[in-house]
Amino acid sequence: MEEMGIVIVGGGIAGLATSLALHRKGIKSVVLERAESLRSDGAALGVQTNGWKALEQLGVAHILRLSSLPFYQIRSVLVENGKRYESAAPVSYGEARCIKRNDLVKVLADALPQGTIRFGCRVASVKLDETTSFPIIRVQDGTNIKAKVLIGCDGANSVVAEFLRLNRTKVCASRAVRGLTSYPNGHGFRHEFVRIKTDDVLCGRLPITAHSVFWFALVPNCSADSKNFKDQEAVQKLTLRSIKELSEEWKEMVKKCDKSSLYMSSLRYRTPWEILFGKFRTGTVTVAGDAMHMMGPFLGQGGSSALEDAVVMARCLAEKIEKCGDSRKRIEEGIDEYVRERRMRLFSLSTQTYLTGLCIESSSRVVKLMFMVFVMVLFFDPIHHTRYDCGRL
Ligand SMILES: Cc1cc2nc3c(=O)[nH]c(=O)nc-3n(C[C@H](O)[C@H](O)[C@H](O)COP(=O)(O)OP(=O)(O)OC[C@H]3O[C@@H](n4cnc5c(N)ncnc54)[C@H](O)[C@@H]3O)c2cc1C
Repeated sequence: MEEMGIVIVGGGIAGLATSLALHRKGIKSVVLERAESLRSDGAALGVQTNGWKALEQLGVAHILRLSSLPFYQIRSVLVENGKRYESAAPVSYGEARCIKRNDLVKVLADALPQGTIRFGCRVASVKLDETTSFPIIRVQDGTNIKAKVLIGCDGANSVVAEFLRLNRTKVCASRAVRGLTSYPNGHGFRHEFVRIKTDDVLCGRLPITAHSVFWFALVPNCSADSKNFKDQEAVQKLTLRSIKELSEEWKEMVKKCDKSSLYMSSLRYRTPWEILFGKFRTGTVTVAGDAMHMMGPFLGQGGSSALEDAVVMARCLAEKIEKCGDSRKRIEEGIDEYVRERRMRLFSLSTQTYLTGLCIESSSRVVKLMFMVFVMVLFFDPIHHTRYDCGRL
């Protein structure tokens, strides 16, 4: 049986960022990724001030700034019974930019020592060694790996979360389509995040550069089954149908999109009360990113909070290992510190996201109003979540 120190399952944003954060603290880790190469599904993501603070700590913010322009405000448009209501607010306290996922995962992976990521390595199950209580990871090809620490960054259907006996993530009624559109002569849009809601769809558009935009459409009660998610022609047609009430500008954006970037997925989330009470450590096994706190895209904080997890995890583990050695007890203490530090931040984010999602998704005006009041009372400063600072590595 192969023996390793720190093993991270999943080479998405959370897994790569965690490995990089550990590397910057002088701690080696191995990332096991089931895909054969880096995955960049999901086109792009908005990163707000808190995310940029984490990227600074990871030492890659300056590279990513080169390929993304800042945006300054969020404009919300509601189209109801033929009437249009519009409002605008600053998007963040400091810096907000949209970055291509491809750029983000590549920059994180390039900063890792060669050989850190093992592609084509799907983890099938996890158990604890009966004598040492360290984790044993069973890979689908039949090999077993003994690890000192196991960090599950394996997303929505996490094998590691299942080992920790966390509930399966819940599915929302809406489906999300995400895409990129290039404008060779420049798009000419303002540098703002536009969000537009009709009865049929919630759409968003974010500029990445002067020539490219990222957009998404959340289609409620979508009937497409998951087999059709990969048929990009069908996804494009479905999106065009759902935005039929929007202006030509939006239709053109979907018609002219880069079809290879089109990505349709169901929306999943972990409930706020599971984040508050869930057991995120057993022995030296824990989780980060969506595996720990999958949330709807309504605040655009899933990816950024995964970056925060990475910084906090590496700091907590390094502190214990450097000062007290890497015995099982010390590692467990380090993980407990990480979970303690993250829990309330994640509870607050997931509650705000959950309530915002209910406001958006509910068809009843009364229920919508009730949740809006709830959000306003609990989160009177709606962009307070962008102020969070995960601290130094
Ligand atoms: C419509 C939409 C818009 C969004 N917009 C934003 C935004 O603007 N800003 C933002 O910050 N966030 C946004 N998010 C959220 C963000 O995409 C996620 O939170 C983020 O991608 C989570 O990264 P992760 O690494 O935890 O998980 P994932 O990206 O799911 O990565 C998991 C990785 O683990 C691998 N894996 C899974 N199982 C195994 C296994 N058994 N063995 C080995 N490998 C495995 C997978 O192949 C994958 O590479 C959005 C989400 C949606 C749906």
